[in-house]
Formats: sequence, structure tokens, C-alpha cells
Amino acid sequence: MSQEWNIKSRGHVCTICGKPLVDKAPVVSALRETASGYDRYDCHPECWKTQERDWEPFSVWDGVYLAPVKEPKSEPVKKEDAGELLRQLIALDDPAMQNVVYVLAVMLERSKILVERDAKTLEDSTIRRVYEDRKQGDTFVILDPRLRLENIAGVQQQVVALLSGTKTLGEVAGEDESPAAPQEGAGSPPDEAQPETA
Ligand SMILES: [Zn+2]
Repeated sequence: MSQEWNIKSRGHVCTICGKPLVDKAPVVSALRETASGYDRYDCHPECWKTQERDWEPFSVWDGVYLAPVKEPKSEPVKKEDAGELLRQLIALDDPAMQNVVYVLAVMLERSKILVERDAKTLEDSTIRRVYEDRKQGDTFVILDPRLRLENIAGVQQQVVALLSGTKTLGEVAGEDESPAAPQEGAGSPPDEAQPETA
């Protein structure tokens, strides 16, 4: 019900007329809210303009359709890993990971892998940001958790730990956002250990 984010792939045919989209030609993309998430529309601009609608898009933007290409394997591995991690996290749909998802998306935007297409403030005053993968055209609707500046660094460390494989998703999800909890398991047990009752 309360799905905070969502992946939608870009279509390769016009959602309205069903004819193929043309490589490097303009395309209008839109997201329509549904009970379970979003439907995505990718249309010829002409089709979008002339189609009658009785619904308001959640988000709509102009883009350029790029036909899929086989990537040569020379791409730096890191970027693919980061995009792959984002997809994994979104598929996981774990509210405990919302800060990590958001910071990772911002990092991918800064490295020009994603582009922000829209930002929406909803009635409950939460913000949803619509990111699009520049190459593949997938759309991600991501909750902006409005992180405080002082918390961003800690979340970035979690993202880096995930990307480098020093932490698993489960470990990060179990962490408190508060920075650098004292290391456990090293030496004496914590003072608040369960009192032994007779
Ligand atoms: Zn069309």
C-alpha cells in the first residue's frame, strides 16, 4: 500500500499509438499513480498532445528516446555496481533503507548516471523525487527523507560500505542512523547486559 518508491522501465513503443519510438527523437514520459504504484507512459509528443485524458499525471517530462545499445565492457565497474545496488534496494522496498536509497540516488545523479525529472510534495508533506537513468531510461520514484546535513555523511559511509562489500544490506538495515556506534564484540560485555536473576 504505502510503497515509497518504484522502478519503471522506459517503453520502446509509444504507450498511446503502439508504434515504435524513434532513436534520439523527443519522447514525453509521464507517471500515473495507481493503487499499487505508478504506470509509466512513454509517448510520441504528438500522441501525448492530442490524446484526451481524464486523469492528471503524477509527473510528466520531456526527454529523448535512446534505443538500447549493447554496452561495451569497458565501462568502469563501479558505476554499474552503484546502479545495480540501487535497483536491489528498491526491489527490497525496506523502509529502514530509505536514507540509503536516497543518498545513493543523489550520488548517482552527481555522477551523471541519473537525472532528476521532477519533485513532488505530497499532501502529507513528504517529497517524492523522480529520477531517470540517463542511458537505460528507467524511472525511480524515491522518497526524499529530508536528511539533516549532519546525517548525510553517515549515510554516505553506509553506501560506500555497501558498494565496497564491507557491509551487507542486512547489516546496514540493522544500523541506527546515529553515527559510529561503538564496536561491539570487542572485549567486555556492555554494562546494560541483562541482570542475572536468582
Ligand atoms: Zn504514438
